Amino acid sequence: MKIILFGPPGVGKGTQAKLLVEEFHCAHISTGDLLREAVKNKTALGLKAKSFMDAGNLVPDEVVIGLIEEVLKSDAARENFILDGFPRTLPQASALDGLFAKLNIKLDYVVSMDVDNNEIIRRLSERLLCRGCGRIYIASQLLAGERTCKQCGGEIYQRDDDKPESIKRRLDVYQQQTKPLIDYYQKSGRLAAVNGMHEIGYVHKLILDVLYKGTTHI
Ligand code: AMP
Repeated sequence: MKIILFGPPGVGKGTQAKLLVEEFHCAHISTGDLLREAVKNKTALGLKAKSFMDAGNLVPDEVVIGLIEEVLKSDAARENFILDGFPRTLPQASALDGLFAKLNIKLDYVVSMDVDNNEIIRRLSERLLCRGCGRIYIASQLLAGERTCKQCGGEIYQRDDDKPESIKRRLDVYQQQTKPLIDYYQKSGRLAAVNGMHEIGYVHKLILDVLYKGTTHI
């Protein structure tokens, strides 16, 4: 199973990817996670990407395309994978098609999730993350002052780009640069659309309907 999870920031791509990894034991390739890791470790890639990410802008295409090429060539991604957060621009989508052709990879689906903007803003402003394992928490569901991850003991924090100024910028960037990809994938017949407004478990079921039964419009 080789899929792309597509949608605006905050739609639940990361959450759904984690559920799919449990189901299919496949690799979860999130460019956002890879870039945050690089920033944390202050690598050359991280130093290049940080200012773009903090401002809610996209990291330049050549940087993320190079990163994805490296990952797709590695053994981890040979069998099955979920791409989360890539591609985000037309040049990235066309570079990815080139890479798939070169590496003889056949993409099964682009699962596109959508929710309205008010819901995105609500979800992102409530979202907290564990610095250690990446587990997602909802601020209102934590006790006052609770900042330690139940899974790994890591620190729970808010991403800089989940603060209001950056959220607005990320939504604009999505509208202008990323949303046009829906057309790109629709034209090639690979798009399956899922309503991301439902609760997490139901969205997961809808995605499984796509992957197991080939239902492409839900
Ligand atoms: P995410 O965790 O997917 O929301 O990504 C966080 C940030 O990483 C984005 O706001 C971008 O700055 C950067 N990023 C992640 N994936 C990409 C991509 N495919 N192209 C450009 N920038 C990206």
